[in-house]
Amino acid sequence: PAGLFAALQLIELGLKPIVLERGKDVQERRRDLKAINRDHIVNEDSNYCYGEGGAGTYSDGKLYTRSKKRGDVDRILELFVGFGASEEILVEAHPHIGTNKLPKIIKAMREKIIEFGGVVLFDTRVTDILVKNNEVEGVETQKGDIIRASKIILATGHSARDIFELLDRKKIFIEAKPFALGVRAEHPQTLIDSIQYSCDFRGDYLPPAPYSIVKQVNGRGMYSFCMCPGGVIAPCATSPGEVVTNGWSPSKRDQETANSGIVVELKLEDFKPFAKFGALAGMEFQKSIEQRAWHLAGETQRVPAQRMVDFTQSKVSADIPKTSYVPGTTPVELGQVFPGFLTQIMREGFVQFGKSMRGYMTNEAILHAPES
Ligand SMILES: Cc1cc2nc3c(=O)[nH]c(=O)nc-3n(C[C@H](O)[C@H](O)[C@H](O)COP(=O)(O)OP(=O)(O)OC[C@H]3O[C@@H](n4cnc5c(N)ncnc54)[C@H](O)[C@@H]3O)c2cc1C
Repeated sequence: PAGLFAALQLIELGLKPIVLERGKDVQERRRDLKAINRDHIVNEDSNYCYGEGGAGTYSDGKLYTRSKKRGDVDRILELFVGFGASEEILVEAHPHIGTNKLPKIIKAMREKIIEFGGVVLFDTRVTDILVKNNEVEGVETQKGDIIRASKIILATGHSARDIFELLDRKKIFIEAKPFALGVRAEHPQTLIDSIQYSCDFRGDYLPPAPYSIVKQVNGRGMYSFCMCPGGVIAPCATSPGEVVTNGWSPSKRDQETANSGIVVELKLEDFKPFAKFGALAGMEFQKSIEQRAWHLAGETQRVPAQRMVDFTQSKVSADIPKTSYVPGTTPVELGQVFPGFLTQIMREGFVQFGKSMRGYMTNEAILHAPES
């Protein structure tokens, strides 16, 4: 989405941008998502994060932020409506588009860019940035093509490790930034409804309940993130040999389960064991956890999973019921996925969550790891 919105802005300024996209268009991308879910095959150019519209296309489309670094949010919402989103997003406190509706909106954006003279090239991965006398001259693609330009905007997102490596190699300044890491928790939606609405059944006039929870544990924030009522957990790895989760929901939020990232803030000092990687230390830390998860999952996308109470008691779950995560689960003691300090915080944190939201801490809740 960052790249698409940059292209739209350039069009508004009367320029004709060239958009280079390593993945496929929204339609073609669907096949690769099927291959991940069904055959455990990750195409490193086309997956839940890569392809037209990036991670945004198959994201949940929750359009609100806790960040204080806000730009003109209304303008973005109006653009989304202009490209086909419901007008309700202009007035809702927590606007949400829904994954089923996003691909059409993203396609309309691409058509507008092309209509106004822009160019969109799919299957075009940038592999090098050409620099002369400290000035950008263009980029090279995986096909060996050179595309000359005196200005480039890099909007390759948080998953593009090859780009971070390229920048580091070319001595273009980058620095590590702290992030948050944890699990994706899934509860029956009816349970979350009964906790949040304090009633046995949710009436027809109430939406599937969301939740938001934050605790300080051992001096670190542990919090819910990207909570998806009536949603689905998705396999979001961008490279073979890794497992990563995230979540989404359709516009009606009508699935049977509620999922949420539950993450712990990391600090730069946590990356010390990877210090030899310099600015890429945090990225290597993250990668090591995603790779460990893949090994624990029997070298498949069957995500390591554990019931919530079992996790707090370091007990491998005897069974894992079917969850919304389509490739399936592998019962694992999730302490094996994370460094010890993180496991400790999450164990303690879930106990605290259970005290604030009665019923939240239950073996009906399934943790999927990692969310990174
Ligand atoms: C399942 C899921 C649900 C989410 N739900 C929400 C939500 O509800 N609300 C929210 O705000 N956020 C959500 N997010 C996060 C959100 O999608 C990301 O923060 C957002 O997409 C980041 O945008 P971006 O443009 O910076 O990068 P990305 O979306 O990662 O896009 C980067 C683009 O660059 C392309 N690219 C990468 N490398 C190259 C290369 N070398 N050459 C050419 N092209 C390249 C990729 O193919 C991709 O299209 C969700 C994410 C996921 C995976």
